Amino acid sequence: MEGNKEAYECCIIGAGPAGLGAALELVTHGVTNILIVDKNKCAGGLARTEIYDGIRFDIGPHRFFTKNNEINNIWHDTLGKDFRAVPRLTRIFYKNKYFNYPIETGDALIKLGLRESARAIFSFFSSQIHTKNDPVSFEDWICQKFGRKLYEVFFKTYTEKVWGIPCSQMSAEWAAQRIKGLDALAVILHALPWARNKKIKTLAEEFDFPSLGAGQMYEAMCDTVVSQGAKLMLGSKVTRFNRSGETITSIDITQSNGNTVTIAAKHFFSSIPLAHFFRMLNPPDQDHINSAAHTLRYRDHISVNLLVKRGNIFPDQWIYVHSPDVQMARVVNYNNFSNAIVPFRDRTALGVEYFVFQGQGLWNESDEFLGKLAVDELSKMRLIKHAEIEKFWVVRETEAYPLYCIGFDAPYNLLKARIDQLTNFYSIGRAGMHKYNNQDHSLMSGLLAARNYLRLPGTPYVLWNINIDAEYFEEGRK
Ligand SMILES: Cc1cc2nc3c(=O)[nH]c(=O)nc-3n(C[C@H](O)[C@H](O)[C@H](O)COP(=O)(O)OP(=O)(O)OC[C@H]3O[C@@H](n4cnc5c(N)ncnc54)[C@H](O)[C@@H]3O)c2cc1C
Repeated sequence: MEGNKEAYECCIIGAGPAGLGAALELVTHGVTNILIVDKNKCAGGLARTEIYDGIRFDIGPHRFFTKNNEINNIWHDTLGKDFRAVPRLTRIFYKNKYFNYPIETGDALIKLGLRESARAIFSFFSSQIHTKNDPVSFEDWICQKFGRKLYEVFFKTYTEKVWGIPCSQMSAEWAAQRIKGLDALAVILHALPWARNKKIKTLAEEFDFPSLGAGQMYEAMCDTVVSQGAKLMLGSKVTRFNRSGETITSIDITQSNGNTVTIAAKHFFSSIPLAHFFRMLNPPDQDHINSAAHTLRYRDHISVNLLVKRGNIFPDQWIYVHSPDVQMARVVNYNNFSNAIVPFRDRTALGVEYFVFQGQGLWNESDEFLGKLAVDELSKMRLIKHAEIEKFWVVRETEAYPLYCIGFDAPYNLLKARIDQLTNFYSIGRAGMHKYNNQDHSLMSGLLAARNYLRLPGTPYVLWNINIDAEYFEEGRK
């Protein structure tokens, strides 16, 4: 180290699942001269747990579920008995009724009523009979699979709340990735007793969860890699990626105390949003690359976390709020994830989620406004009374969901190709790959990127192919 300049073999930007996946694999193979940098004050990224007055709140509900045995083993090995199975209960709230989720045919038909049910059945069968073109939008994709009526009840309002754009402007690719393996017939079959043991990803009935919140997993992974020699620099924001030609030479970091430091490394793994990377590149990339990076959009997220003076408010882990007359998209009951999350039995920790665009609408409102809105909406849904609120805390999270608008793929492909030209840099994880990755995919992207760096047998993996439902090893391999 010389002055405020340090050098490492590997520098990992982001202590979320992707960055920690890379770190774990590197230290396992003896590469311990590593620095992990994150702007947050704790590890876990979007899957972190923040503590307010001793109560542990995640950034929205985080279930741990994967089809990949390797990831499952890592999670279990990391937390042991603190990683427990939770029977899932989630419902949909629509027009003042609670629909079972996974959707059960009988339940849905009764609650929709005779007229709406007849419409849903008619539109489903007509969607199955009509010739199908390649779906372009999310709306096309769902209508072709489920029929227009079911699309309107069970997909349209919630999806538009979450993504902030009409379903007709969202790419069908997102639907194919997110709810692959699910069609109306599968839903109906799933309701039959002899078909229930066949798991459809979207319908999983049980998930695992750390007893102290999602972030406990990543805090434990940090402890593992730090105990083996990796260095962790939290509360430190990367502001610049310095390059010479196609090689990243160093990064500039501003620490929480205002100090700046430059870090050189042989190799960089970055899980920060792809668009941010191009914005921070020094010298900047060519104009057409920068223009492509500017087209990438993200959806931002607000959690209003509340402490309610009552236990057992509702039995679900979370409720999807499809009703258009409230702005919230989901309400989370953290007590139902783990009873270690809230230290008092006569209190409930709720999280109300709003999806927004930074700088617009609710994003600009004060914490007081957002707290009041959440309480008003919960009381409108008859879940709580105003007087039952003890405290609330607001958490704003940027770039929570990468947006898949129609036409995003051309500039996106350009950026992927550009990243691949860099000689010592991998862009990994959810925002880093601009993919709707869950924790397991993000963790896997870090593991496989580290394997590429280590040139382990079977490499190189094409990281961009890691998909929402991929059998990673087949699809990841060149
Ligand atoms: C509301 C919500 C609910 C979710 N529910 C689930 C769920 O139920 N199950 C599931 O598996 N997944 C869920 N996810 C997805 C899951 O959170 C992500 O897949 C996962 O956290 C992504 O990991 P990552 O490491 O790729 O990125 P992140 O978790 O985003 O980590 C990236 C890290 O980079 C850091 N960073 C960014 N910019 C800089 C910078 N300039 N300098 C330094 N550090 C920087 C960030 O602080 C962050 O810690 C959910 C996500 C959200 C938002």
